Amino acid sequence: MSVAEFMTPASLDDALSIKKDRGAAARVIAGGTDLILRMRDKVLSPSLLIDLRRLSLDGIARTDEGLSLGAYVSLSQVLESADIEKYFPALPAACREFAGPPIRNRATLGGNIVNASPAADLVPPLIAYDANIVLSSTGGERVLPLVEFFVGPGQSVIEPSEILTEIRLPLMSTPSAAIFIKLGQRRSMAISQVNVTTRLTVGESGLPVEARIVLGSVAPLPMRAMSAEGILLGKELSDELLSEAAIKAREEVTPISDVRASESYRLQMTEVLVRRALLATRDELSGSATDG
Ligand SMILES: Cc1cc2nc3c(=O)[nH]c(=O)nc-3n(C[C@H](O)[C@H](O)[C@H](O)COP(=O)(O)OP(=O)(O)OC[C@H]3O[C@@H](n4cnc5c(N)ncnc54)[C@H](O)[C@@H]3O)c2cc1C
Repeated sequence: MSVAEFMTPASLDDALSIKKDRGAAARVIAGGTDLILRMRDKVLSPSLLIDLRRLSLDGIARTDEGLSLGAYVSLSQVLESADIEKYFPALPAACREFAGPPIRNRATLGGNIVNASPAADLVPPLIAYDANIVLSSTGGERVLPLVEFFVGPGQSVIEPSEILTEIRLPLMSTPSAAIFIKLGQRRSMAISQVNVTTRLTVGESGLPVEARIVLGSVAPLPMRAMSAEGILLGKELSDELLSEAAIKAREEVTPISDVRASESYRLQMTEVLVRRALLATRDELSGSATDG
């Protein structure tokens, strides 16, 4: 593995200028926990690495709309943030199931997103919270819903001249609850066979006005099971209804068989995990109603 050049620009403007000039041959490096392995395996051979460490993209800030997370925020930083734990608890829940502390210290949110793995653990919770992302270039910024970023395994709409700079999480109307569940071959240090994040927000009537069921590792992209979500809206959250939504979610996914799990196992586990996550989300909601 060899790289001709390694740069650590001191400002985002400098980094974007380099990206503009050098395009796809220049690769951004954040934590390096995906990239270095891909270079070692000769899947990627960039001629230049642009290190993000000096660009001040590691902030977590409150905004009028919600939270702004820099693309260079590590998983360990997510786990230390009281704001994220309070308002977006499914995200730290996913971080706790992610590798071990040394990797969590290095791996970043931006890297997990741009790597565009269908099995990425942080993407489903971010989609469930309706995250938007900011892609920056010398021409300015474009903001898009995270769910629209992915086009296939390892592929996204990011342009060679762009750097992902920010993830924006809008504050949820309350009462709202979300749950993340991951199934791997082991309890720790395992890539997801299936992961699911569910989020429910109820209105004044106590019935759901918003539902998100977001799945990883069961389709070429992280995906929302939108037909299953639709089943839940405006209805009493009975066990039967949650089971019906879980069956519908299973019909919507298109998993493959690979080294981690067979297609049929992933189909079955989609139904099981969606039902389990919805039951837990409903319990969480009734807990928050009692607390309130
Ligand atoms: C032992 C081990 C265990 C792991 N366990 C898990 C797990 O449980 N769950 C999971 O989802 N993943 C896991 N991973 C994968 C990896 O750690 C994550 O995907 C991580 O979030 C990647 O972040 P990074 O900062 O290291 O990205 P990098 O490796 O630095 O970059 C990844 C890709 O994104 C690009 N990139 C990074 N940041 C930006 C940016 N801001 N703008 C534009 N492009 C950018 C890079 O050019 C590269 O193509 C594991 C990896 C290892 C080695």
